[in-house]
Amino acid sequence: MHLLTTLEQGLKDIDARGLRRRRRIADTPCAAHMTVDGREIVGFASNDYLGLAAHPQLVAALAEGAQRYGAGSGGSHLLGGHSRAHAQLEDDLAAFAGGFVDAPRALYFSTGYMANLATLTALAGRGTTLFSDALNHASLIDGARLSRAEVQIYPHADTDTLSALLDASTAETKLIVTDSVFSMDGDVAPLARLLELAERHGAWLVVDDAHGFGVLGPQGRGAIAQAALRSPHLISIGTLGKAAGVSGAFVTAHATVVEWLVQRARPYIFTTASTPAVAHAMSASVRIIAGAEGDARRAHLQQLIERTRAMLKTTPWLPVDSHTAVQPLIIGSNEAALAAADALDHAGLWVPAIRPPTVPVGTSRLRISLSAAHSNEDLDRLDAALTRLGTTMVAEAA
Ligand SMILES: *Cc1c(COP(=O)(O)O)cnc(C)c1O
Repeated sequence: MHLLTTLEQGLKDIDARGLRRRRRIADTPCAAHMTVDGREIVGFASNDYLGLAAHPQLVAALAEGAQRYGAGSGGSHLLGGHSRAHAQLEDDLAAFAGGFVDAPRALYFSTGYMANLATLTALAGRGTTLFSDALNHASLIDGARLSRAEVQIYPHADTDTLSALLDASTAETKLIVTDSVFSMDGDVAPLARLLELAERHGAWLVVDDAHGFGVLGPQGRGAIAQAALRSPHLISIGTLGKAAGVSGAFVTAHATVVEWLVQRARPYIFTTASTPAVAHAMSASVRIIAGAEGDARRAHLQQLIERTRAMLKTTPWLPVDSHTAVQPLIIGSNEAALAAADALDHAGLWVPAIRPPTVPVGTSRLRISLSAAHSNEDLDRLDAALTRLGTTMVAEAA
């Protein structure tokens, strides 16, 4: 009885602070126009930046993969579950995204969360200091904790402070860890400067390219390719459930690093390999991303991004200076952000309110997530709804 009461009180507290999260149920595939909780809406909530999640070629590849390889992998990668589809995907990803290192190799994971835990725990341990951007994704924070390394958090994108911390460090092994595109702000990390610091201090640079892979750089090769960086000390983690439209993640690095992960990374070793059909579909996704269709989708997305930037500047709230598909609008309090999201919901637009602990207290925001699947008419609707909302909320506040 007492055990449940404690949790019930905790949940009441979550309600009182405007922090209760609710899952919505989608009845149709992830797309610009969806049926969610039985209503038709325009979705600005997904990370499906290229609009590939329901692409007919990927759906067909998934079915083909299931025909060829069955429904389940049957085991972990080291004990029987590693299929031809996984191996082929790793080769495809290494060739596509590994241009920043000689002898690149890629390692495929079921999720980005696990790839981050795996990479940090395998490379860092006691005697390591991990230098982590203050706005890094939760999975990097958890990986850092699980590694038992000392963690030094530097203020967001502040390479001067990071440089001073590195100067003062006597750690045997050093890792600099950063998101490429910050997931709740949409800004891009100063990767060139971070690599310079890493090289000067003999540190690894681990880049979580969850929101860059498929979208940034030539052919969508990612944030490191966009910055034209090369180094054997770079490690890139791309996720495959966002722009790539399927699921999973991959680490790309020098072959020696990847072999180390295969031998040592517990989140890689002690889990069942994902369904081979998913890997088979992902190889099809890489072909789309790298080809002319990928270019066309990125160009359309870029035009939507520029339009959205201009549109957000005319609202009474604070847009974040983002040139990526993540376009946040900072509202402030949890209650105000929720009210704004509710008002947009009534207008048939799904724009999630992001609250602490995902973002710092007092910076609750609408996270507008753009996709190549959106049309200019979809943006017109968002523009009109935000204009109406701005007028009413400012009138109410006066
Ligand atoms: C989504 C995300 C992850 C986790 O990837 P999943 O494949 O969803 O587990 C890791 N890092 C960042 C920055 C992300 O946005």
